[in-house]
Amino acid sequence: MDDSQLLRYSRHILLDEIGIEGQQKLLDARVLVIGAGGLGSPAALYLASAGVGHITLVDDDEVDLTNLQRQIAHTTERVGRKKAESAREAMAQINPAVEVLALVERADDARLAELVQSADVVLDCTDNFKTRHAVNRACVQHRVPLVSGAVIRFDGQVSVFDPRSAENPCYSCLFPQDQAFEDVACSTMGVFAPLVGVVGAMQAAEALKLIMGIGESLAGRLLLLDGLRMEWSSIRIGRHDTCPVCAA
Ligand SMILES: [Zn+2]
Repeated sequence: MDDSQLLRYSRHILLDEIGIEGQQKLLDARVLVIGAGGLGSPAALYLASAGVGHITLVDDDEVDLTNLQRQIAHTTERVGRKKAESAREAMAQINPAVEVLALVERADDARLAELVQSADVVLDCTDNFKTRHAVNRACVQHRVPLVSGAVIRFDGQVSVFDPRSAENPCYSCLFPQDQAFEDVACSTMGVFAPLVGVVGAMQAAEALKLIMGIGESLAGRLLLLDGLRMEWSSIRIGRHDTCPVCAA
């Protein structure tokens, strides 16, 4: 680390749990963020500001006026641009040293496997079950920890699925793939703007902890946020012996 990096990251380095060693792990890390919307915006901005060295951002969508109420990586000026590229610009303005690969694509299973394989941590910031399950399958297959977040209306949830340890559940243990969960889109249900910031920032925090190997992750716990009462609850989630994804 040069002098300017030591200054930039000094408030991390001051923390005993992080120090120069932890910060160096962040600088060397490779993180995959799927989705550059409500959750992906704050998550990607914090990963970049915190100094994660290599970030791949995947999103095939374009910035729309209706996104700006909550998707804080985008600006009025960038309406109509690709979200992955818009977010890369916002990240570069905060921390130009971070290498951001913006992929404007909707990754299928084969592509996801390829992307997940080269990541230390994956953040699922998407809004549909099909992609969530595809990301989970790739993470289980390649034993890469997955930080998952979701927000709808005034409700949020966040958890970590870490297949590196055999007792941890995967996303599919919690929400079985064959069960018909209805996708509830922000476009029809609405979403309270700051909640995606809260949950997306927590996803970034969990990702940074996993990279540095500090603290205790959310693996095996699901945090639920009731934004109207502003109350968190935590439920234990166990592995399913018959889960077709992780029990094979
Ligand atoms: Zn499972």
